Amino acid sequence: MVNINTSKPVMITGATGYVAGWVVKRLLDAGLTVHAPVRDPENAEKLKYLNELAEKAPGTIKYFKADLLEKGSYEESMTDCELVIHTASPFINRVKDPQRDLIDPALEGTRNVLESVNKTETVKRVVLTSSVAAIMGDTMDLLEYPNKMATEEQWNTSSSLDHQPYSYSKTLAEKEAWKIHNKQERWDLVVINPVLVIGPGISPNITSESFNIVKMMGDGSLKMGAPALNFGIVDVRDVADAHYNAAFMPEASGRHILSAENKDILDLAQYLKDKFGEAYPFPKKNLPKWLLMLVGPMQGIKRKMIKRNVGYLWLVDNSKSKEKLGIEYRPIDVAIQEFFQQMIDQGVFKK
Ligand code: NAP
Repeated sequence: MVNINTSKPVMITGATGYVAGWVVKRLLDAGLTVHAPVRDPENAEKLKYLNELAEKAPGTIKYFKADLLEKGSYEESMTDCELVIHTASPFINRVKDPQRDLIDPALEGTRNVLESVNKTETVKRVVLTSSVAAIMGDTMDLLEYPNKMATEEQWNTSSSLDHQPYSYSKTLAEKEAWKIHNKQERWDLVVINPVLVIGPGISPNITSESFNIVKMMGDGSLKMGAPALNFGIVDVRDVADAHYNAAFMPEASGRHILSAENKDILDLAQYLKDKFGEAYPFPKKNLPKWLLMLVGPMQGIKRKMIKRNVGYLWLVDNSKSKEKLGIEYRPIDVAIQEFFQQMIDQGVFKK
């Protein structure tokens, strides 16, 4: 049981990110003082929307300079904090060098932040943004899990530097967090494991692979057909609520899968057609797996990824998030329609 004193500042890494934007809003709306270590605190243009959020809310925000790969750089921003929320980590599917671009910032970054937590006597709780990717790598992994369903009990064992390196980065980072946590007794660790996050961003800057995935639905990339991929989806505002509750519910503990519904690409396309009609080239059919195996490698998609993910059912257990964090999931059709509308408003789809 941990009670966080809300008159103390709260430190959040990656405040400029898509998921963190809504978490920062929750903290500011609750009147908290937010310590935000960011890579470029001098970039007034990039931080403008966060400052506007703070101006409208009872809370305040203060920036510090830090980088996941710079040892000790988070220490100053942690001073006097009882709560640390660690969200910063690259979420990119296509990288040149997976070790440099994904594993190092995820793993070394987690180590860096938690070593500073160990040195900061005031910290009582750390909330870590992990991912369902630390629980399962490929959809096919589920065939090996009890009831063919992922729960907080499992760990991803199929991802590697060469295969699903983002998922590998999240697995290594979360394991490291538990390892560091288990060596001490002062602070507790509460982990959030979201599936694919969608919904309108707080930030006007387009970041996160979430945008790219939903953008593909309307930019013509899938107009010839979509792969039969089934996956879990959750609204970004539910993910923020989960972080907030994980931070302040005294009895919160362990990992939490965050997933509203399981859908495939054609279900999402239908939600978009319901609102936007035929105005965009939404996918209309699934491409056969043999064809994907043929053309995938030409688009930079490896055959192993297609083989182990296309055509399998995704199933995760979200009951702990509802029972322990009190999450009542928002509907996914609204989340994707609002997300898409935001992209239209930002001029993402050039006509
Ligand atoms: P995002 O918008 O790209 O945010 C990533 C954040 O990490 C940014 O604030 C970025 O800062 C920061 N960052 C990256 N490299 C850094 C470095 N070397 N030093 C300091 N900060 C660094 O992505 P997101 O989707 O919000 O992801 C946030 C977290 O949610 C990640 O841990 C991700 O794994 C997790 N997650 C996301 C999803 C999803 O579907 N979006 C699902 C499950 C889990 P800059 O602004 O300086 O680049």
